[in-house]
Amino acid sequence: MKKIFAANWKLNKTPLESKSFCEELLQKLDSQFFENSEVFIFPQNYSVGITSQTLKGSKIKVGPQNIHFETKGAFTGENSAEIAKYFGCELVLLGHSERRQYFGENSEGLNKKIRLTQALDMLPVFCIGETLVERQNEQTENVCFNQLESAFDQVDRLKRIVIAYEPVWAIGTGQVATIAQVAQIHKSLFNKMNDLGFKSFQILYGGSVKPDNAKELLAVPYVDGFLIGGASLEVDSFVKICL
Ligand code: PEP
Repeated sequence: MKKIFAANWKLNKTPLESKSFCEELLQKLDSQFFENSEVFIFPQNYSVGITSQTLKGSKIKVGPQNIHFETKGAFTGENSAEIAKYFGCELVLLGHSERRQYFGENSEGLNKKIRLTQALDMLPVFCIGETLVERQNEQTENVCFNQLESAFDQVDRLKRIVIAYEPVWAIGTGQVATIAQVAQIHKSLFNKMNDLGFKSFQILYGGSVKPDNAKELLAVPYVDGFLIGGASLEVDSFVKICL
């Protein structure tokens, strides 16, 4: 199975910075790399169009960091998945912990967003993960299982989905989960996704992935790739993680 390297640029990069990142990235990843790997880019919304255009014809896929659960209508300030698709997007990032924490994303809304993403034949990259207190209270598995179950009502189990396991305490903190912690939860998540009936899924790890810890983390069973924040902002560090 191909490994996935997904860049979450959050609220960073102008359209021109996004374009030059992609041009440089295309120079550094050859066709052999794409035989065993996939690259996903989640730019800030205003940069989605130019990113997609720059990567047109390449194997790199692009998506917004959030969508609204309706495609059109009186929803001032929201982003349409249908328009993202028009711009060439094939993916949607959903349920990132920053969206859950700062923008009140909940399972009910996320369920609608996953279903809309599937209905548009786009690939959902769905984030889950526990807070530090939840981990300290040994709730990690419960919390993650809950986040999966509560978002999956009527979600098509036959369509591909990507899960990004991101312990909230490891995002942007430099505090990466230990290999043992990653191994344990990824195995549980793999079994859970099977139990839930999903036939085509990958599980990414996210949380302070850097060039110096990527190799070890990628070797952990059931780690199918990474969702990368900070280290995806520079071409060099992103490429070092990919290669
Ligand atoms: C993220 O934003 O999804 C993330 C994992 O960030 P970082 O790599 O900076 O921890």
